[in-house]
Amino acid sequence: MVEHATEKRQTAFLQQQSMKMLIGGQWVEAASGKTFDTINPSTGQVLARVAEGEAEDIDRAVAAARRAFEQGAWPKMTPAKRAHLLLKLADLIERNAEELAELETLDNGKPIKYSRAADVPLTVEHFRYFAGWATKIEGETIPVSVPNMFTYTLREPLGVVGQIIPWNFPLQMAAWKLAPALACGNTVVLKPAEQTPLTALRLGELICEAGFPEGVVNIVPGFGETAGAALAAHPDVDKIAFTGSTEVGKKIVQASAGNLKKVTLELGGKSPNIIFPDADLKYAVRGALNAIFFNQGQVCTAGSRLFVHKSVYDEVLGNLTTMSSKMKLGPGIDPGTDMGPVVSQQQLERVTNYIATGKQEGARVATGGNRAGDELAEGYFVQPTVFDGVADQMTIAREEIFGPVVVAMPFEEAEEIAARANQSEYGLAAGVWTNDIKKAHKMVAALKAGVIWVNTYNQFDAAAPFGGYKQSGYGREMGHAVLDAYTQVKTAWINLR
Ligand code: ADP
Repeated sequence: MVEHATEKRQTAFLQQQSMKMLIGGQWVEAASGKTFDTINPSTGQVLARVAEGEAEDIDRAVAAARRAFEQGAWPKMTPAKRAHLLLKLADLIERNAEELAELETLDNGKPIKYSRAADVPLTVEHFRYFAGWATKIEGETIPVSVPNMFTYTLREPLGVVGQIIPWNFPLQMAAWKLAPALACGNTVVLKPAEQTPLTALRLGELICEAGFPEGVVNIVPGFGETAGAALAAHPDVDKIAFTGSTEVGKKIVQASAGNLKKVTLELGGKSPNIIFPDADLKYAVRGALNAIFFNQGQVCTAGSRLFVHKSVYDEVLGNLTTMSSKMKLGPGIDPGTDMGPVVSQQQLERVTNYIATGKQEGARVATGGNRAGDELAEGYFVQPTVFDGVADQMTIAREEIFGPVVVAMPFEEAEEIAARANQSEYGLAAGVWTNDIKKAHKMVAALKAGVIWVNTYNQFDAAAPFGGYKQSGYGREMGHAVLDAYTQVKTAWINLR
């Protein structure tokens, strides 16, 4: 195997023999004693051994979260004190930023420059933003038409929340889930993805250090079919928040039916990115490149269907192909890397199978189209891949690949492109590149997606709601919209007669 000098710079956290799970304020082994390995996708080598949570551990964690919700310091804590804890956690994450960035990159494979510039600072900002909301969750007084009644609402936490997160942005996904749930006063059982448990566990240590009462946050690493399924089905969990594939999202909904727990889902996408001929093409091409290759294409909003007006198609395709082929593929920990490996052997197979299907169905590879060889052969590296000559009904134009593969397709009539872009079971995001302000607003109205980016792509902010239309999910995360997902309304009628 290839040794990358920078990978020797491992954190003290990684020196542990095996990593435990956080239940009721204690770091414990799995009830079964089992562990699983987490792999460095740049090398295929074992990075760490982690306690493998299963149904019994989920039971213990849910019981701890229930106790913490009903008793002890948390239910009595003032909103201001909750805010202080969230701010303290944000400070601790900031203080440990470099360690978290390295852990994230080693575990997930993403380029360290992005872990440093995006994953960690956005996580910090997420906790700070929701710390602000803790003191601003208000009920209302209602002017009912029944005489002598004083009617008002309270906004109360839901209770024990189960949160199941994916491997593409392990730390940020933990923040998106934990910060609003805690700001609203819930307690949590978080299950990180089996491919990338490390930063969530390190975050757990910082949560303890910040002083959250025991049991308020429980972190149980483990596999989806065991730990995840047990959490989704658990009768004492009040709400489940899930980010992941649409296929698993449907299983979560079924599993949740036993006690009709509340569910929010942030699922897959096959997002259209549309370049009109009046766009500033230099920015549009760079935008199209980042829209698909950021995070190795493992982004639920990836701009994986690139529609380009036929009058500029050849120019855009040519420039995109040239820029794609120049991207530096390499281990995430190398500061010069533009694109790292995909997360796992399984993901490598999934992405390369889609590429093979694209070729079989008659699409033409404009650049890439293979697993990377030579000194990268040990890791899970896929070349940035652009397909040309693609028809709308081809598999690669319809299904979510979740890898560095974009299909480029020309369009002729501006009036028809929104309808064509909307021909998808998904509706998570869309991009539009134009300098015509009327066209921009018309496209925003016409596209059926939860977020539309105009002359930009993949913008996220803790204050801006995010979520899907159609089979891309239920509910919204971030902004004040997410407060609805972590609170319930109680209406009080007081007879003043
Ligand atoms: P991917 O296919 O990209 O790995 P998944 O949707 O399978 O994405 O995974 C997202 C999260 O869902 C992970 O934490 C995973 O462990 C979990 N998961 C997978 N299957 C199930 C399941 N049947 N029930 C609950 N959680 C699951």
